[in-house]
Amino acid sequence: MDGPVRQRSLWQHNLALVLGHVGTATPTSRAEIAATTGLTRATVSSLVEDLLRADLVAEVEPAPRTGAGRPATGLVLCPNGPTGLGLEINVDYLSAAVVDLTGAVRHHVVHRVDQRDRAPEQVLADVARMAAEAVGGVDLTVAAARLAVPGLVNGNGLVRVAPNLGWRDVDVRGPLTAAPHWPDLPVSVDNEANLGALGELAVAPASPSFLYVSGEVGIGAGVVLDGALFRGAHGWSGEIGHVTVAPDGLVCRCGARGCLEQYAGQEAITRAAGIGRDPALSADVAVATIVELASASDPGVLDALRGAGTALGIAAAGVVNVLDVDTVVLGGTFAALADWLGSHVERELRKRVLTAEWSPIGVRASALGASATVVGAAGSVLRDLRAAPASWVSVHR
Ligand SMILES: [Zn+2]
Repeated sequence: MDGPVRQRSLWQHNLALVLGHVGTATPTSRAEIAATTGLTRATVSSLVEDLLRADLVAEVEPAPRTGAGRPATGLVLCPNGPTGLGLEINVDYLSAAVVDLTGAVRHHVVHRVDQRDRAPEQVLADVARMAAEAVGGVDLTVAAARLAVPGLVNGNGLVRVAPNLGWRDVDVRGPLTAAPHWPDLPVSVDNEANLGALGELAVAPASPSFLYVSGEVGIGAGVVLDGALFRGAHGWSGEIGHVTVAPDGLVCRCGARGCLEQYAGQEAITRAAGIGRDPALSADVAVATIVELASASDPGVLDALRGAGTALGIAAAGVVNVLDVDTVVLGGTFAALADWLGSHVERELRKRVLTAEWSPIGVRASALGASATVVGAAGSVLRDLRAAPASWVSVHR
């Protein structure tokens, strides 16, 4: 049995190796792949055939070339190949996105509904319906789905705790895949800020090591170290929203006092700005109102953003001092507010990070803005597929 097993694992390995050398922007050729990987031309050609048949790569017109020899056919990731479905449950909206292998977003919807007073089964039934609409709405094969939730998730799709949804030990994957509309796809579940960080890493990595902070009603973070997401011992890293910024401060949803969320979360900002928590005022309107008033230099709103940015900078400085990341990326609603929050975050980092004097910490808005999480979730499906394409190719060649 040893021989065939070894041969198959070699094929799996080399398939991933070849696919890893095919990009989206600049076409590569079989000869270039052979030269870079050290595989023979014949092996590369055979593996490329497998990838072409599975629609993972596509051939493009060769670039005109001067000099002797036939120009080589270019290879790129296939824009009509398998896609990833991203789904997101957040406190005040649900979202779905389909992304193709080139990173293009082929479908994106957001439903703004407050999820706090709803049973998990109701929420998951809506997510299943959105998944079915997404799959039906694109004329492409969807390989798998990944669901983002604002809480601590274990590997089996169990949400240990999502404080702002009021969820505790909620099995998400079971009821989702059992929901009437669910489109028969494999699904995995991950934390929203982790997926946002992965989205940022795929599209516009600030640096190989950065802190991605996602501001919603709650605040989460994804820590990227040396180009990889740092998950921690249980996969629960990044709970920056519950870092203490005021030991005797306001009571948080988690039960502790003075958590960052209570000073820089979406509702903390609207409250401090005097916009209040009008149930009729949906979150996107509240954020748009803050942007509008801040643009008009409304003193109350500028004060509220100063307070939020300062608290955020204090918490981020702790992370930077410990982990030596060199950039803080503002995601979620923080992306829309980055023009005002950024300078306060930077000031606190300058003041509190020991090494800032020699190496200033960059602060910038997420390149994907508010859709980073759902697009990152969809993209992470394809990132996994590209890293291990063998099972997809076995079924689809
Ligand atoms: Zn807390």
